[in-house]
Amino acid sequence: MNKRILVTGGAGFIGSHLCERLLNDGHDVLCMDNFFTGRKENIVHLMGDRGLELLRHDITQPILLEVDQIYNLACPASPIHYQYNPVKTIKTNIMGTLNMLGLAKRVRARILQASTSEVYGDPQVHPQREDYWGNVNPIGPRACYDEGKRCAETLMFSYHNQNNVDIRVVRIFNTYGPRMLEDDGRVVSNFIVQALGGKDITVYGDGSQTRSFCYIDDLVDALVKMMEQDGVIGPLNLGNPEEFTILELATRIKDITGSKSKLVYKPLPEDDPVQRQPDIELAIKELDWRPSVGIEDGLARTIDYFKKRLTK
Ligand code: NAD
Ligand code: UDP
Repeated sequence: MNKRILVTGGAGFIGSHLCERLLNDGHDVLCMDNFFTGRKENIVHLMGDRGLELLRHDITQPILLEVDQIYNLACPASPIHYQYNPVKTIKTNIMGTLNMLGLAKRVRARILQASTSEVYGDPQVHPQREDYWGNVNPIGPRACYDEGKRCAETLMFSYHNQNNVDIRVVRIFNTYGPRMLEDDGRVVSNFIVQALGGKDITVYGDGSQTRSFCYIDDLVDALVKMMEQDGVIGPLNLGNPEEFTILELATRIKDITGSKSKLVYKPLPEDDPVQRQPDIELAIKELDWRPSVGIEDGLARTIDYFKKRLTK
C-alpha cells in the first residue's frame, strides 16, 4: 500500500539511496534535510518524480506534518563533520530525535532511528552483539556522536514504553558506496580519492585496527525490511560481518584502482576503536536478511562512481 514517508537526512549518503528505493516502491517521500552534509546533487535525479517532496528544515526545530512512517537519519556521520560543531551534533541527536518522536506520537507514525555501532564505543566484546552495553568515553572527541546516539536510543525506548510509540531501532555499522562525500574523511572515500588521484594513502596508526564494511544497497534493503516487519523493535545490528584491517582495505583499493600511491602512516585519532564487527544473527533470524555484496564488488562500484565524479 502507498504510504507517506518522511526521511530526515534524506539528501545525505544513506538517505538519498533510501528515498530512491521508497519512491521506486511507489511511496510518497518527504525528503527533509538542512543540507549540512547532504547535497541536492544526491537527489536531483529524483526530482521529476511526483512522489517526492523536498523540504529544507532542521530537525532541531519542531514541525507539524502528516506522515505514516519516519526514518530518522538526520545527523552528520563522519568524524570530521560531527566534531565540527559538537554541540550541534548533540542537539540534532537529542532535540531532533525528540521532535521526531513527538511527531510520531501525534500522528501515530512508526519511527525508525538510525543508531550506530558507535554506541559500542571501543568494544571489549568481539564481535558486537546487541546485548553488549559498550565502552564509550563520555567526554572524548567522539562523545557528541556516540553519547548523542545512545541518548537517542534511550528516547526511542522511553517514548515506546511510556507513550506506546511504534519504534524501530537499528545500529548501523560502517557503510559505503556511491554518493559518499569525497572530502568527508571517512576511510573508504578517503582511500579511493587518494588512490585515484595518485596521492599518498593516509593510514592512521599502524593500520591494524579493523572495521566491517557494508555496501549501501544491502543496508537500504535491511532498513526497509526492519521498518516493514512486526516481529522485533530492536536494537538490531545492521552491517556486513566481513572484517578487514585498515591496511588490508588500503591494499585492496590500491590493487583494484591499479594506483601507484604510497601508503603513509599518520597518528591514530583519539578514541579510535581498535576493532569492530557486527554479530548479525538477530537480523538473519528476524529480517531474513544478510548482505549480498562482497567487498571487491562493492569497492569496484564505488570506485566507478568516484572516477566519474572526479572527472566532472
Ligand atoms: P550523511 O552525513 O551523508 O547524511 C546525514 C544527513 O543528515 C545529511 O544530508 C545532513 O545534511 C543531514 N542533517 C544533519 N543534521 C541535520 C539536522 N539537524 N536537520 C536536518 N538534517 C540534518 O551521513 P550518512 O552516512 O548518510 O548517515 C545517515 C545516518 O546513518 C546518520 O544518522 C548516521 O549517524 C547513521 N549511520 C551511518 C553510518 C555510515 O557508515 N554511513 C554508520 C552508522 C550510522
Ligand atoms: N582511517 C584511516 N585513514 C583515513 C581515514 C580513516 O586510516 O584517511 C581509519 C580511522 O582511523 C578508523 C577507520 O579508518 O580506524 C575507519 O574510519 P572512519 O572515519 O571511516 O569510520 P569510523 O572510525 O567512524 O568507524
